[in-house]
Amino acid sequence: MFDISPFRIAPGTTSLKSFDPDSNAGIEGGKAEAKASLRSLRHELAALQRRLWAESTQKLLVILQAIDTGGKDGTIRHVLSGVNPQGVKVYSYGKPNETEIAHDYLWRIHRNTPANGVITVFNRSHYEDVLVVRVKNLVPQSVWEKRYQHINDFERMLSDEGTTIVKIFLSISKEEQRERLQDRLDEPDKSWKFQKSDLDERALWDDYQTAYEAMLSRTSTEFAPWYVVPANRRWYRNVVVSNIFIQTLQGMNPQFPEAEPGLEGLIVE
Ligand code: AMP
Ligand code: MG
Repeated sequence: MFDISPFRIAPGTTSLKSFDPDSNAGIEGGKAEAKASLRSLRHELAALQRRLWAESTQKLLVILQAIDTGGKDGTIRHVLSGVNPQGVKVYSYGKPNETEIAHDYLWRIHRNTPANGVITVFNRSHYEDVLVVRVKNLVPQSVWEKRYQHINDFERMLSDEGTTIVKIFLSISKEEQRERLQDRLDEPDKSWKFQKSDLDERALWDDYQTAYEAMLSRTSTEFAPWYVVPANRRWYRNVVVSNIFIQTLQGMNPQFPEAEPGLEGLIVE
C-alpha cells in the first residue's frame, strides 16, 4: 500500500522547505506507472463511496487548498471521475458576495458541510480567511489572528458530531507556477482561466508561503490533519490525493446495512 504518512503534518511548527514539490517518491516508474495505478484507485474509491452512501451514518469532508494554478480543479476532475455523482458534492469558494461578507466567515461554510453518507469537497474554504485575507490585509491582524482558534474549534465540533475531516495542500514551486500561468496565456482554450490579477498574487508569493506555513502549523490537528502533497507533477499529485481519499475512507470502514430479516428464500413473481 502507498504510504501517505510522510505527507501528514504533525501538529506544531511546519516548514514548507522540507517538502519538495517535484517529488515522485514511491512512484519511480513515472507517469506510466501512475496512470495505471490511478485506474485501479478510481475503482477502489468508487467501491468505498458506494458503501459510505449505503451505510448513510458517516460523512467525509475534504478541504483542498493551493496557490493559483496549484491544480485544485484538475485534482477534483481526475480523482473523483469514477464516483457516483449522487454521493459527492463539490463547493468552490471565491470572493465572498454581498450577503456572505455581511456575515461571519464561517456562515457560508457550515451550510455546505456533508450530510450522512456524503463526501463533500471544498475547493478553497474558510482557510482563505487566514490566507488571502491575511496576505492582502483585508481585515486587521487582530481579527484574522483569532481565526486559527475559531477554525480549530469549528472543525473539532464537526468531528465530535461525526464528520471525518482531511485537508490537502497542493504544493507547487514558483517556477512551476510561472510555467502554468504562461501556458494559460499561450493556449487559447486555457486563457479563460487567466486574470491579470494572478500576476499581482504571484508577486506576493513569499507572503503566501508564510501564510500557508502558519495555516499548516496552527491548524493541523489529530481530528483534522493537513497533508502537503507535492504537486509539480500532476500524475503524482493525483495518485497521492487518491490514496489520501481511499485510506481515509478505509479508516472509516463503511458497511452495507444488514438486509431486512425474513428475506431468505423470497421469490419475486
Ligand atoms: P478561483 O479559484 O480562480 O475561482 O479564484 C477565487 C478567488 O477568490 C481567489 O482569488 C481567492 O483568493 C478569492 N477568495 C476566496 N475566498 C475568499 C475570501 N474569503 N476573501 C477574499 N477572497 C477570497
Ligand atoms: Mg484563479
